[in-house]
Amino acid sequence: MPSTSALMLNPYTPEHEAFRQTVRQFVEKEMAPHALEWDKAGIFPREVFNKCGELGFFGINHDPKYGGSGLDYWYVTAFTEELVRSHNAGVNMALLVQGQMATPIINEIGTDEQKREFLQPALMGEKIAALGITEPGCGSDVAGLKTTARRVGDELVINGSKMWITNGTRCDFITLGVRTGGLGYEGVSLVTFPTDVRGFQVSKKLEKIGNLSSDTAILYFEDCRIPARYLLGEENQGFYHIMTNFQGERLTAAIVTCAGMEQMVADAIRYGTEREAFGKPIIKFQVWRHKFAEHLSAIEAAKRLTYHAVAMFDAGEPAVKQISMAKLFAGDLAQRVAYDCQQFFGAMGYIEETHISRAWRDVRLITIGGGTSEVMKEIISKMSF
Ligand SMILES: Cc1cc2nc3c(=O)[nH]c(=O)nc-3n(C[C@H](O)[C@H](O)[C@H](O)COP(=O)(O)OP(=O)(O)OC[C@H]3O[C@@H](n4cnc5c(N)ncnc54)[C@H](O)[C@@H]3O)c2cc1C
Repeated sequence: MPSTSALMLNPYTPEHEAFRQTVRQFVEKEMAPHALEWDKAGIFPREVFNKCGELGFFGINHDPKYGGSGLDYWYVTAFTEELVRSHNAGVNMALLVQGQMATPIINEIGTDEQKREFLQPALMGEKIAALGITEPGCGSDVAGLKTTARRVGDELVINGSKMWITNGTRCDFITLGVRTGGLGYEGVSLVTFPTDVRGFQVSKKLEKIGNLSSDTAILYFEDCRIPARYLLGEENQGFYHIMTNFQGERLTAAIVTCAGMEQMVADAIRYGTEREAFGKPIIKFQVWRHKFAEHLSAIEAAKRLTYHAVAMFDAGEPAVKQISMAKLFAGDLAQRVAYDCQQFFGAMGYIEETHISRAWRDVRLITIGGGTSEVMKEIISKMSF
């Protein structure tokens, strides 16, 4: 039996590594060659969802009864780390929304019917899932959401709008935050919302500065009627369900950010051994050697903090504070790492074709999406003093 410290140094078994290789092969063969093309198109083919579903990439840790594999969270970690090889943060985000952001809460608290109707086809890659929490008027302050779900007989009538919804232009269903009660967090519920309902409309596809291949939309709901049994979990307990769900979202954000930073530095060092200035490879300049030494040390610290949070999350221990710390630390660090790596590439870091230029642009999202750095600091301070 390996010691705890050995487990922390390498938590992966040969089975995890075999799964990692499957993901790597798929990402390098089916995704990476299209990185630029998909960014330019502002979308990627729906078949990517189908293929990832067939390979079991969405249901890694979900219930086998509904098409999942029931594996531990280190498999999710390996999957998320390998995604960065796509060199396309937009498609990575879309796939993570499908498997690790919109569906885990259905897996956890959904009824058998909701699991069969929404979870299973999402895990198989047949239906596209979205998570609809943020609104034009509220983001960080989730308890302030205004989209209403009014009970009329055995139906819920939904009115309102959502903004910044990933997979929003083509999702088949939304794990949707709605107000079923009074003001504040006690009046919030979750529902599973099929988008083929009358009164639902994609108002606009948003033009973003990064994560270009992922579609992000404003959604509009006008008297949309869904069966009341689509309520997800207990009525007016949605705020707690959303907070539970956020943990997986923030953890995958930290994981993908650490892997992305390792990749940026490795790419930069490779470039710096080939590119010469003043008669020597630019990586030989001490100012850069020291900068990369600092970054490698900080990235290692971010990764260990993230792995610590993964270990706690995987063990089912409360990990809100550690997950918030991991997202905060990795997200803020990534801004500096991306900036320096791009600077190291010189003009080559300023064109679309170079991975680092797109990574520098895309990484900006990490301190904003899924809970801002300021919100992470609020959580950490509330839980610490
Ligand atoms: C590309 C992209 C994809 C997204 N995908 C989704 C999705 O699929 N589903 C979804 O529901 N949402 C999604 N979002 C929304 C995202 O989660 C929100 O943008 C985020 O939660 C922040 O909310 P906000 O933009 O409304 O900022 P606001 O809440 O308006 O915050 C504005 C600023 O005020 C600061 N601030 C707020 N409260 C405090 C405080 N208490 N103390 C100190 N500072 C504070 C914030 O940190 C921030 O700097 C996405 C966003 C983007 C950009």
